[in-house]
Amino acid sequence: MSQNSKIEWTDATWNPVRGCTKVSPGCAHCYAETFAERFRGVPGHPYEHGFDLRLVPHKLTEPLRWKTPRMIFVNSMSDLFHLDVPDGYIIDVARVMQAANWHTFQVLTKRSVRMRDLLRTKLRFAARKLHIWWGTSVENRKHGLPRIRHLRAAPAAIRFLSIEPLLEDIGTIDLRGIAWVIVGGESGPGARPMKREWVLSIQNQCKDAEVPFFFKQWGGVQKSRNGRALDGQTYNEYPQCNPPGTPMREIRLTVLADIERRYNGQLVR
Ligand code: SF4
Repeated sequence: MSQNSKIEWTDATWNPVRGCTKVSPGCAHCYAETFAERFRGVPGHPYEHGFDLRLVPHKLTEPLRWKTPRMIFVNSMSDLFHLDVPDGYIIDVARVMQAANWHTFQVLTKRSVRMRDLLRTKLRFAARKLHIWWGTSVENRKHGLPRIRHLRAAPAAIRFLSIEPLLEDIGTIDLRGIAWVIVGGESGPGARPMKREWVLSIQNQCKDAEVPFFFKQWGGVQKSRNGRALDGQTYNEYPQCNPPGTPMREIRLTVLADIERRYNGQLVR
């Protein structure tokens, strides 16, 4: 786990899976791929296999050991619902999140169909927890709007949208059942531009629907130059949720012991 994330809308990142494959135009300049591929072939480095997808069982129990409450972005370097991640492993990630109820978990995917289907079935036990937020990425109309429909059809208590990188005017969004919207432009080499009116359209829709709006960044090749002020103001709104739970020692120890037994020998390195 990285305890101090640079991502504006979270405190920390937790990556029990590493690596991914591209699914839509929003992936074109994937920061996780760029980072991971830098270390391909470096022996002993967490990303010595580059961006190839692999499970990282020794990371599974980290949030249970991390005592200070944090907002935790789950799989900032992957996608939990990638088809190569077995259902059983996703369930174990969710069991850890359920037990570590003093944190707030932010799960973000582009594989919204699989997330919806699992939240209806094997992940039902975690779907309605207020400290686990389930979100999908939206970059354009073609790929993003169907994902919003899938998310709204999932029985999640807290649903959110990460509209980043915003690549076009996405028009009218159905925000019923959505608790939080993040908007941001693409950053880094080759960043595609984001127009102010596209952002304002989403902001106005959030205002009308009373959905908290978080403006992450304008982006650009040098994102620090463009900042994150929208018409002179910074928007850092979050969903209003109940305060996080308190650690329940017995549950925490039971989940820890069970995962350690089943992933015997793979948890420490
Ligand atoms: S789904 Fe996310 S992590 Fe995976 S390639 Fe696309 S942008 Fe990168």
